[in-house]
Amino acid sequence: MFSVPLWEADAADQSDPSWSKRSRLFVHAVVCPMANVLIGLGSNLGSREENLRTALDLLQQTPGIDLRAVSRWIPTRPVGGPAAQPDFLNGAALLRTSLSPEHLLQRVQEIELQLGRVRAERWGPRPLDLDILLYEQLVVESPRLRIPHPAMAWRRFVLEPAAQVAGWMPHPEIGWTVRELFEHLRLAFPYVAITGPYPSLNRRLAQQVAQQTGAELVCVPGWLKVGLRMLAEKAKEFPIPSKQRSFLSPDSSDDGSWTTNMGGMPLGLAQNRGDCAYLEDAPWEEFAQPTQLAQDILQWLQVLIERLPSYQYRRASDGWVVSDFWLPQWLAEAAALLGPALPETDRRLWETLAKWIALPKLLVCLERQGDGNPGHPISDPQYLGGKYKPLGWQGPILRIRLARGIWPPRLSRAAAEVQTAMQAMQ
Ligand code: ATP
Ligand code: MG
Ligand code: MG
Repeated sequence: MFSVPLWEADAADQSDPSWSKRSRLFVHAVVCPMANVLIGLGSNLGSREENLRTALDLLQQTPGIDLRAVSRWIPTRPVGGPAAQPDFLNGAALLRTSLSPEHLLQRVQEIELQLGRVRAERWGPRPLDLDILLYEQLVVESPRLRIPHPAMAWRRFVLEPAAQVAGWMPHPEIGWTVRELFEHLRLAFPYVAITGPYPSLNRRLAQQVAQQTGAELVCVPGWLKVGLRMLAEKAKEFPIPSKQRSFLSPDSSDDGSWTTNMGGMPLGLAQNRGDCAYLEDAPWEEFAQPTQLAQDILQWLQVLIERLPSYQYRRASDGWVVSDFWLPQWLAEAAALLGPALPETDRRLWETLAKWIALPKLLVCLERQGDGNPGHPISDPQYLGGKYKPLGWQGPILRIRLARGIWPPRLSRAAAEVQTAMQAMQ
């Protein structure tokens, strides 16, 4: 629908002198339709409403911009930045434009300057802020411009007005529409999951965020990863029939009957722990550690289900929860580690379990670039040596790039970033 953008057509036009006026018109009309663009507006200095109105007038007067819809102005509390700044008025506008993303950025920055914008400190007070939120389905990642706007997916002051004018527009990376993002923001459990290729950093960041925000902290016990590895090694040494190896559910069977038992599973597991015939029968008996581990995994998963926001146990009013792992990823990694030692029935049970836990309101992903480090666990097919299937985007993700060269990194900036995002979601 939008294969050759207008600014490329202009370039082609210049490079080929044989183009007639007619073919130029054809390019404009057929190959280069006007792009739908969603803009976020904000003001917290001076006459806020007047600033916003002037900004819209200036946009509308710009050749190549057609203003299509404007949201209501909503008053919001400032998020991030220096303390004690005035409240904002925020809004959103839908435009159609023939300007390229770069030209549009240039134009909105001119308008900001015209209204007296001075960039002193990050997230400081301003008479006008104009952000490009979406530009059709383009993804732009340059030092000057990022589209979609990286914070739009979790900011209430952005999504609420944006849903009024462009609820139908899809977010090109997440795949949800603006309205779906806003609904998620409104309805999802107040839960932040932290993930990334370095468990110790995930842990430190989760601790720091919990300390700063008063959120409840849920952590994976460190021994579990080591334990899983040992279990996988043992299973390799002593291959045993898959039925006997099923260490997650005493009810699991090849006919898939465990699916019907999901509702009562956690309690059932706790009560049955002592009399799991399959554990006694299995050759695990001969190896104290694997047996203990199998039971520990059961027990830990049960604790997890009770403490993470699941549709069964928690209410949103219970307050924020922050975890130093993201369950679907943790289970996927554990499955990759255990490999063939994890029976198919258990693997399916894990997948069901992961779906049972509510999606985080925000997923935070710590990343470190270059240096031959593990890539991005959400999207890198080489993560964990390619044994693990990338999980893909599942809702809003705050990606935090760790500074290169400093290791282990200080996480105070990352913690402040997460805290600001949590404020923006309220
Ligand atoms: P935030 O971007 O978190 O809302 P802000 O709006 O206060 O913060 P600004 O000072 O307005 O940030 O912009 C800082 C820089 O961000 C600009 O110089 C601009 O080059 C860059 N930028 C990157 N992506 C965008 C975008 N999608 N829209 C507007 N500016 C962007
Ligand atoms: Mg902004
Ligand atoms: Mg801005």
